[in-house]
Amino acid sequence: VTEADPAVLLAVQDLDTAIDQHRHRRAHLPERAELEAIDTEAVSLRPEVNELTAARAEIDRKHNLLEAELTATEERANSVSKRLYGGEVSASRELQAMVADVESLRARASSLEDQVLALLEEREPLDKRWTELSHRAAALSSRRRQVVEALGVAETVVDGELAELERERAERVVGIPASLLTTYDQLRAHLGGIGAARLVGNHCDGCHLSLAATELDRIRHLPAGEFMSCEQCGRILIRV
Ligand SMILES: [Zn+2]
Repeated sequence: VTEADPAVLLAVQDLDTAIDQHRHRRAHLPERAELEAIDTEAVSLRPEVNELTAARAEIDRKHNLLEAELTATEERANSVSKRLYGGEVSASRELQAMVADVESLRARASSLEDQVLALLEEREPLDKRWTELSHRAAALSSRRRQVVEALGVAETVVDGELAELERERAERVVGIPASLLTTYDQLRAHLGGIGAARLVGNHCDGCHLSLAATELDRIRHLPAGEFMSCEQCGRILIRV
């Protein structure tokens, strides 16, 4: 029971409610949810990207081996062919062996070329999917930058409003006795942010329960500026 202007405590309660709402809004800005969705999708793309990366690397590895073998085979075929038609070799058995050698090397080269083509075909759908995923990842990353910027702007707006509300609160609490303010803060902490409630008609607007007729009568006869508690919820009850 402390002497003070009840309206001031109610004003502080209203400011505290507004501050709580702003903090809640700041924590639940839609941009935050969108960022989370973007990050979730970006993470979900990774396993497939990793799989594609490994599969493409394996194809490249095989491709390089085939190309190296193809080059070596063609070089050998060319070199045998050059000797064959160079006129240096005249023994027909040797010439026949060289013809067979060139034919076999050319056949080997042709088979290697087929294998290279098969690998390129195998790689084509992987490249297509890789490109799709890269575009999606790039779109997500660009959207993410926009959302981060929009979040920053939204936070700045809420922070400005919060600063204003807190400045107003600091001015208001000056007139409230420290013990009353402590009681109010403790009640607020335990009762969902509402420490001071209005007496509206015959009920407390903190717990919405009606007060007994005798209690109402007692309250009505209390001197102005005297504080009382709601018998039901314990909040500081203020006549308005
Ligand atoms: Zn109550």
